[in-house]
Amino acid sequence: MEEHIVIIGNGISGITCARHIRKNSNKRITVISGETGHFFSRTALMYVYMGHMNFEHTQPYEKWFWEKNRIDLVSKYVSSINTGANEVVFQDGNTLAYDKLVIATGSKPNKFGWPGQDLGGVTGMYHKQDLEKIEKYAPDNTTCKRAVIVGGGLIGIELAEMLHSRNIPTTFLVREDSFWDVVLPKGESAMINREITDNHIDLRLGVNLKEIRSDENGNAKSVVIAETGEEIECNLVGLTAGVSPNINFIKESSIETGRGVKVNRYLETNIPNIYAIGDCAEQNEAIDERRPIEAVWYTGRMMGETLAQTICGNRMEYKPSHWFNSAKFFDIEYQTYGWVWAQTKENEARFYWEHAHGKKCIHINYDKNTHEFIGINTLGIRMRHEFFDKILTEKKSIEHVLEHLADANFDPEFYKLHEKEIIKKFNSENGATLQLKKKSWKRIFSKA
Ligand SMILES: Cc1cc2nc3c(=O)[nH]c(=O)nc-3n(C[C@H](O)[C@H](O)[C@H](O)COP(=O)(O)OP(=O)(O)OC[C@H]3O[C@@H](n4cnc5c(N)ncnc54)[C@H](O)[C@@H]3O)c2cc1C
Repeated sequence: MEEHIVIIGNGISGITCARHIRKNSNKRITVISGETGHFFSRTALMYVYMGHMNFEHTQPYEKWFWEKNRIDLVSKYVSSINTGANEVVFQDGNTLAYDKLVIATGSKPNKFGWPGQDLGGVTGMYHKQDLEKIEKYAPDNTTCKRAVIVGGGLIGIELAEMLHSRNIPTTFLVREDSFWDVVLPKGESAMINREITDNHIDLRLGVNLKEIRSDENGNAKSVVIAETGEEIECNLVGLTAGVSPNINFIKESSIETGRGVKVNRYLETNIPNIYAIGDCAEQNEAIDERRPIEAVWYTGRMMGETLAQTICGNRMEYKPSHWFNSAKFFDIEYQTYGWVWAQTKENEARFYWEHAHGKKCIHINYDKNTHEFIGINTLGIRMRHEFFDKILTEKKSIEHVLEHLADANFDPEFYKLHEKEIIKKFNSENGATLQLKKKSWKRIFSKA
């Protein structure tokens, strides 16, 4: 009899793992999820509300795919894991036995015990059910006179954009003094503050939620700001103050957990036949400068692929390459490669260029002694991943990056309009004499 692999979670990490196990073996595979019957792209959820696509369009695989590939799907919540008996226990009391178990249960939105956090009309923006609640309480600006978003991160700003697309007046409460300034340096953070207010969002910086007040039907009717006592009437409250691993149901088991399910470099837990991947996995030992828990799409996919190898007998270490990430803040695209911390570290120096219209910038971090390139943030400019991956691997200098900017980005207009200005700024600030490489110029003229 073939081994039975049970995967809890049908997100990108669980499904990638299942697909790759199937590519490499005939093992019996069961994927469980209480959220939806089929895999969908979580990152595309916002576009469903914004009317760019139907929910069905977020599902990249046709229904027949699962049967054809002999991946059994179970639509139920798991309430506990009995590691002694090698079985998962469902909420309805039924059980399912496994030979190997993969925990890929993702994240859940944080709630910090705010009074009123469980009222009707209060929701995170993570699961499909959250989207359904937003649709119910904020279908338009007649039903929803105002929405309040609590927590300024990537998901909060997406929710602001969603509500804006339906002309729903929105107040955005952000605890920090500037948007996402625990991650973004000052210049980038200030640019996004402007982008938020330019889109008519009522951005309140440096404020905390005190409570959510209820109407007579148990629905949110207002929020109160802790610092000022101001009460803001609203019909929807979006809680977007970060996410954390969705692992409460594991806490009673003998599987070791911290904030997430603890794993080694092979994504193995302390129990020999149990593994964890994706948002819910916490590395025992951080890899390079990376965080022990990384709640991003592509790392979930990489972990799924890596673990499938191990499960199929080719034990493989999880080795993500250089850090990168991307997001969109209303109309401004954000990319980051390598490390550009919010605060400059002792051995680092920075070069920052911002376009006069305040919607584009590049910010380069480098070693102040050796000039080795450490990382770049760009807003409003799309860069090439392969370029920066290579630069980081080859430990090139900031001068090399600047001279080859034309090879680094996608936009011919950018070379034409801004490259000279960027180099000029660097030269004047650093007494340097950098020149754009010939190849870059060729590109400008051939593409412009
Ligand atoms: C609105 C939004 C936008 C995002 N945008 C980006 C982006 O642009 N770029 C990026 O890199 N990342 C983005 N992310 C993050 C990214 O979506 C996640 O990192 C990724 O989806 C995590 O995948 P996963 O497979 O680990 O878990 P998940 O996708 O969370 O899947 C886990 C599944 O397991 C199910 N489950 C959990 N517990 C149980 C249980 N006990 N029983 C049964 N089923 C269970 C869950 O319901 C869920 O369906 C975004 C996230 C959100 C919410």
